Amino acid sequence: MTVGWDADPVVTAWPGLPRIDRTLIADACVVGLGGSGLAAVAELVDRGLSVVGLDAGRVGAGAAGRNGGFLLAGPSAFLHRAVDIWGSSSIDLYRATLAEIDRLEALLGPHVIRRSGSIRLAGLPGEPVNDAQITDREADLADCARLTAVLRANCIAVEDYDGNLGRGIFLPDDAAMNPARRSLGLAAALAPRAALYEHSPAVRIDSGTVHTESGQVCAPVILVAIDGKLELALPELGGRVRTARLQMLSTQPVSPGRLPCPVYCRWGYDYAQQDVDGRMFVGGGRDRFIDSEWTTDTAPTHDVQRYIEDVAHRMAGEPVTVSNRWAASVGYTDDGRPLCSEVAKGVVAFGGYNGTGNLVGPLAARAAVALALDGLAIPDYFCD
Ligand SMILES: Cc1cc2nc3c(=O)[nH]c(=O)nc-3n(C[C@H](O)[C@H](O)[C@H](O)COP(=O)(O)OP(=O)(O)OC[C@H]3O[C@@H](n4cnc5c(N)ncnc54)[C@H](O)[C@@H]3O)c2cc1C
Repeated sequence: MTVGWDADPVVTAWPGLPRIDRTLIADACVVGLGGSGLAAVAELVDRGLSVVGLDAGRVGAGAAGRNGGFLLAGPSAFLHRAVDIWGSSSIDLYRATLAEIDRLEALLGPHVIRRSGSIRLAGLPGEPVNDAQITDREADLADCARLTAVLRANCIAVEDYDGNLGRGIFLPDDAAMNPARRSLGLAAALAPRAALYEHSPAVRIDSGTVHTESGQVCAPVILVAIDGKLELALPELGGRVRTARLQMLSTQPVSPGRLPCPVYCRWGYDYAQQDVDGRMFVGGGRDRFIDSEWTTDTAPTHDVQRYIEDVAHRMAGEPVTVSNRWAASVGYTDDGRPLCSEVAKGVVAFGGYNGTGNLVGPLAARAAVALALDGLAIPDYFCD
């Protein structure tokens, strides 16, 4: 089945980009044109550099165009836990991701970036079905209170949520989007300013040269913007990033307005958003299928999809009919902080967003540009 987000008219009308067919010389080459790679291209052309961008497939056809579309401020761990693990730089990251939502909204418009806020729900919508769920929901709610305290202490907006979905917290500054539309919208805006190529996988990346089957790019600065499967493009990162599969589905329309904004529940593991037509886009279960999902395969699987269907039912509050199922690769780091690292002279790689790269990816892209061009140290909320 195709990706649910691709039904968007802007996506279906995407004209495509050429395949590289010769040797090109540029100031910089960006490998990977998801949300992060496109942010790197934008930063480089804004500095007046000539840029070649290469993607192995269609722009944004990796996780950047297949994800939940949540624009949640903050690091991959809830802020109170992130502060315990990584210190006060987590608060800097929270503020930087809030600014990134503003930036995306200014670039793409409020019809693409919807400032809806988000709801963190304790447990799934509906009544708990056993004692274990009751206990877990109480613990989840207590954790919401701990998060609220840290957010308020840092003057970040948060409200209690007690509504028809259950109980939790509402974060009014968060947003939602169709991720495929975001990627293609950015690529369309950049195409006149940079040489962008699709279906042009890099087969080898050396200092100064990116090799493909049908051409090469010679550039003193090479930025590798791949989240999942980064270690396949750069085997030297094998021990530092690890690829996991995350799966989703979308449904036929259910009662519109059931989800007023993106909702993530059960400690954030299960999530859904609903579009204006009532279609639900649902994912989750990462904690339930840990071992089987450490894979570079991107085919949806029966067991995970069955689990997500149950989540979709709970989110919708009524039976659902699945219309699309898909999966994509993301990168995880042992450290829990995203990686932004010079792996060879003039070659900077960034990725490993631990499941949450929509906002952090562009920040990593700009940190990579500052490292490569200005020699600036990366912020503490990244690891090198
Ligand atoms: C199901 C799912 C749900 C998610 N939900 C959310 C969410 O709601 N919010 C959130 O913030 N994050 C979410 N994420 C994570 C988020 O999607 C990613 O962290 C983010 O999209 C990474 O973007 P990227 O541009 O860094 O990498 P990618 O999207 O992985 O893009 C990398 C690009 O590089 C290309 N590429 C790979 N190898 C090569 C090569 N050798 N040569 C050339 N090109 C190559 C790929 O084709 C791809 O287009 C989710 C991920 C998944 C899979």
